[in-house]
Amino acid sequence: MIEKIKETVKKLFKENKIDIFIGYSEGTLPLRSTPCFITEPDDIEKLVWNSYCFNNLAVYLPRFFLPQLQKKDVKLPRIGILAKGCDSRSIVGLIKEHQLPRENLYIIGIACEGMIDIKKIQDAGCKMKEVEIVAAEEKNGKVLVEDEDKKKIELEKEELLAEACKSCQYTAPLIYDVLIGEEKRKTKEEERAAFIEEFEKKPLEERWKYFQEQVSKCIRCYACRQACPNCYCKECFAEQTKPKWIGITDNISDIMFYQIGRIFHQAGRCIDCGACVRACPMGIDLRIFTYKLIKDVKEFFGYEAGISLKESPPLATFKSDDRQEFITEP
Ligand code: SF4
Ligand code: SF4
Ligand code: SF4
Repeated sequence: MIEKIKETVKKLFKENKIDIFIGYSEGTLPLRSTPCFITEPDDIEKLVWNSYCFNNLAVYLPRFFLPQLQKKDVKLPRIGILAKGCDSRSIVGLIKEHQLPRENLYIIGIACEGMIDIKKIQDAGCKMKEVEIVAAEEKNGKVLVEDEDKKKIELEKEELLAEACKSCQYTAPLIYDVLIGEEKRKTKEEERAAFIEEFEKKPLEERWKYFQEQVSKCIRCYACRQACPNCYCKECFAEQTKPKWIGITDNISDIMFYQIGRIFHQAGRCIDCGACVRACPMGIDLRIFTYKLIKDVKEFFGYEAGISLKESPPLATFKSDDRQEFITEP
């Protein structure tokens, strides 16, 4: 697949169709790939494609098309981007929110087989938690990991997949100019939602307690916000001073206000890519809250984010028969 990606990018530069390409290159640590921005064809060789290309690259797009740049005399860049299923859904959302001009994007869609959660490697009973992983190799669905004591362990890739990837419904991109690979994994909606059903059955007090327990670990680093393509506001409500919505303290009420604000701003927008979960240094279970919103938006409004460029998001439209009981019966 990587050769096909490189060939396609080379052709795009040669035919002068793009000014910049956003993909992944080798990270500085094992088990890491890092987003990379190619402006010179000579750098195309840096590109990689593997099970650690987990960043949602759509997060970088809005800054190239800030509204103040969209004046008649400003030439907007033409951007090529590698898009997995989740990245493509974020791109759809950003186009619909008028943050990206579709005509300035060249999307190389790639069928994704799921990304590895590094924490799962460390937790895989290999006693590698306390030592550095120095090398990792992937072959035929297995991952061979080596630690600094030269201890090696072979793990099944399937067991190491990130939770969002394990039950991904859209591994192939939904919007692209060229598609590389074929969709191999796909999960049914019911299977995907199963993890949240137990949580939903719990009494309100217990759910609230879980929310408080989880968010009390938050250190307000805002990595979850920075990793999310939906969080493109020039000024986040968490940092506004006029009006000031939240204090900057680690007081639980300030933290809860930030979390509730961020989570609710994802209603009808979150595509469950898991970027916020991966970015969180405190291991907070953010997914359960955003996924609950995904499920409710689907149930109440029949809407799924990032699927179609035509369908209006529920928060941007109104139907007289919209369900409303969630306002009074949480
Ligand atoms: S969420 Fe889906 S498309 Fe995105 S990285 Fe995981 S498996 Fe791939
Ligand atoms: S809230 Fe998290 S899971 Fe949802 S789109 Fe943003 S980064 Fe992805
Ligand atoms: S990434 Fe985690 S710790 Fe940082 S602000 Fe978000 S929830 Fe809090």
